[in-house]
Amino acid sequence: MADKPQSTKLNPGDVAPPGTPATGEGPCPDCQGKGQLNGQRCRTCDGSGIVIQGVAGG
Ligand SMILES: [Zn+2]
Repeated sequence: MADKPQSTKLNPGDVAPPGTPATGEGPCPDCQGKGQLNGQRCRTCDGSGIVIQGVAGG
């Protein structure tokens, strides 16, 4: 598999790929944007602290 400059894989907390209309980045609701939960990497955001969320009113 070829490497990509930026990963576009979805994390469990993402609702859509980055750039999808009516979505945007937001702090992970599980780890509060810290990227870690209970001393371990947050699986919801894969440690990024950011998830793709639907944007209301879009
Ligand atoms: Zn998280």
